[in-house]
Amino acid sequence: MAEDLDIRSENCPRESDSDIERALRPTRFDDFSGQDKVVDNLRVFVQAARMRGEALDHLLLYGPPGLGKTTLSAIIANELGVGFKATSGPVLDKPGDLAGILTSLEKNDVLFIDEIHRLSPVVEEYLYSAMEDYRIDIMIDKGPGARSVQLTLSPFTLVGATTRSGLLTSPLRARFGIPCHLEYYDHEILERIILRSAHLLGVKCSAEAAHEIALRSRGTPRIANRLLRRVRDFAMVKGSGSIDPEIARYGLEALKIDRYGLDEIDNKILSTIIHKFRGGPVGLSTIATALGEDPGTVEEVYEPFLIKEGFIKRTPRGREVTDLAWEHLGINRLTFQGGLFD
Ligand code: ADP
Repeated sequence: MAEDLDIRSENCPRESDSDIERALRPTRFDDFSGQDKVVDNLRVFVQAARMRGEALDHLLLYGPPGLGKTTLSAIIANELGVGFKATSGPVLDKPGDLAGILTSLEKNDVLFIDEIHRLSPVVEEYLYSAMEDYRIDIMIDKGPGARSVQLTLSPFTLVGATTRSGLLTSPLRARFGIPCHLEYYDHEILERIILRSAHLLGVKCSAEAAHEIALRSRGTPRIANRLLRRVRDFAMVKGSGSIDPEIARYGLEALKIDRYGLDEIDNKILSTIIHKFRGGPVGLSTIATALGEDPGTVEEVYEPFLIKEGFIKRTPRGREVTDLAWEHLGINRLTFQGGLFD
């Protein structure tokens, strides 16, 4: 809360995006909007773990970036009333790094590992016994004097987060008792998140303006909060300070935010399918190669939103853009395809 007050104060010395992002993070299940099924289940599991005085089962949160994986994991620790430590797959370079963080955990603490699909295979091996038996064997010394020492850990909960669940190895995946998939948010929920954030930022924002911002947020709270902050700048400089629908539309136009909230890569995917493959159907790996992207990233990070919003459909012969995509890019399908066949 102290952070909230800081950013509301007029003479706040520094207001970086990451400071604000932290200040806007919900800290309780009650403040976390959306993902109802996941949250309802988590409430039960957390309460049961508390009643038993045990560590919560290990949890895997997967889904595209910005949907609340980090936020939820901190909420879980908070609701469990235990400590929270956060790190990420690429940071845990050596088994020693993992051992350091694991041995610093207290009973039932939550350890959050972001981008868990990027753990090195050696570190991942060490994690298995830590997750299963709360112990790790570490090697001390090298060469003939090398010996293994077993360390017993306090029971803990590992919360792993990934945007690329397809890259997890099966032994690692199997060690998570609770897998949770986070979905893109509906406009109404994003609207609620935007109004809450506006309140925390101390800026007036009408429901209609929040709706305008929500429509262009790509189903993602992180983007919604970012757009809100930028629109707030427009409201301060070009408007009355409050965010009404006119200033919201003005700001979003000025920021060149796509009216469906699609980002550059989304648009590139649609335009590649149209321009290079006549709208499809075309295989996912062919699209990815044409874009210079990894097929898994296209499939797990970008495509779900395009499918959800009805720009792409999956067919047995590959991906195909829909009429909405043609319309969105302002290309007349019949003329374009007719022209290609001439
Ligand atoms: P991820 O870890 O999935 O990339 P984060 O947990 O970092 O996403 O969330 C990004 C930002 O979006 C956070 O600062 C948080 O304020 C906001 N946010 C995410 N989910 C929600 C939610 N359900 N309700 C309110 N704010 C949210």
